[in-house]
Amino acid sequence: MKLFILGILLPFLNGTAPYQDTDTLLINHVNVISMTSNEVLEDQEVWIVNQKIQRIQAASNSLKSGFYRVVDASGKYLVPGFHEMHFHWRNQQGGIERDLNLLLANGVTTVRNMAEYDWQDQVAIREKINSGEILGPRYFTTGPYLNSSMLQSEEEAREKVQLHIEKGYDFLKIADNLPENSYLILLEEAEKVGLPVIGHAQRALEIDYSLRMKSIEHVEEFVYLFEETQRNDENFMDSIVEEIKISGITIVPTLKVFERIVYYLNDSEFKKLEQVECSEYMLPGDRNYWLSDENPYRKDLKGKVLFGKDAEVLLAEWLVWMKDFTLKLAEAGVPFMIGSDTFGLVVPGFSLHEEMELLQDAGMDAFEILKAATITPARYLGTQAVEGTVSVGKNANLVLLHSNPLEDIRATKDISAVILNGKLMDRNSLDSLLKEVLEINASFIPSPNSNKD
Ligand SMILES: [Zn+2]
Repeated sequence: MKLFILGILLPFLNGTAPYQDTDTLLINHVNVISMTSNEVLEDQEVWIVNQKIQRIQAASNSLKSGFYRVVDASGKYLVPGFHEMHFHWRNQQGGIERDLNLLLANGVTTVRNMAEYDWQDQVAIREKINSGEILGPRYFTTGPYLNSSMLQSEEEAREKVQLHIEKGYDFLKIADNLPENSYLILLEEAEKVGLPVIGHAQRALEIDYSLRMKSIEHVEEFVYLFEETQRNDENFMDSIVEEIKISGITIVPTLKVFERIVYYLNDSEFKKLEQVECSEYMLPGDRNYWLSDENPYRKDLKGKVLFGKDAEVLLAEWLVWMKDFTLKLAEAGVPFMIGSDTFGLVVPGFSLHEEMELLQDAGMDAFEILKAATITPARYLGTQAVEGTVSVGKNANLVLLHSNPLEDIRATKDISAVILNGKLMDRNSLDSLLKEVLEINASFIPSPNSNKD
């Protein structure tokens, strides 16, 4: 009998109970940015029970010990977990775990994968995460990225929709310039079965066609939808912004990946890319490739003439226009989502913060940027009942920051802890995730005589 009692008391005596799914976590003395308004609720206690936010109230100092873990979050800020809405798994080597670790360590608790390559089974990845077999953010995925050669007829369009439904993809992603008829049938058939169609713009058609999708990926698409004279005609572009806003479509700007391309072509900026922090998390062969003159953009575009201009000059001009147009869309209240199009030196996880910082540099308000990483994507994904804000009854997918992101969005990088499905990953655990990636990477260091992998 004695032993039995001791067994119950032991956790109290130690002060720490073995922490399990059913256990309780208290984040104490925390400043809460719920994302239901742009106010900060100061000095709160947030109770997490069974993976849900159970209670949020003013902090008290009279806590009794019990079967819960307490995190003293004095001076820190609690925000909803971040959504990365344009992710690609590009490196087969090292497995998906490499990317999932990078995403989690950077506060991404929901991710949308944006293509399925031949060597991948994206639905299987999603199911493995959902079942807890592998650790990762809530996972959504498109099917294979469909281009016009795969959608030449109405019949092909119908088949693709059918295939997506059978396989269980969450979205159907298309490229630009599909045959008009295939495009229209695709939209209609997908809508019948509740499959959202997303992707690039239909550049040869009036913008109204592209606005029928659920979201447009890349502000870059608006460069291709319009002639240069139109792009520089303020009245015309104002009417376009209005049309985009009325349509209710969501835009994923993906500016950072385009800025990287501009920098690949500029010698001094290119040199500086060697210093970007995130590059150390790339596979060594991949990193060397992207930082060398073999970089495909540098190789194919540097010194070339595009539309009568030097490519480097032209793309830099486009980037300026894109940032400006993005700000116009934001000011008009067009919903945005953060996505970074992970590719080359756009490294999963880290690039989410770089994208947010670039939007801030373009003039966007920090609260609006944070919305684009939290509540807007939750609403878009249809998960707003359980995700996107720090609210009672929602899933405990949260990020604890050292400083206030509403004052400077760069605060999102400075992560104290991530809470995924109610489980705390403190700074040490997040660093272990990053260390694992470095260890995987080290196993791929090419020997001096071998070719690039
Ligand atoms: Zn993409």
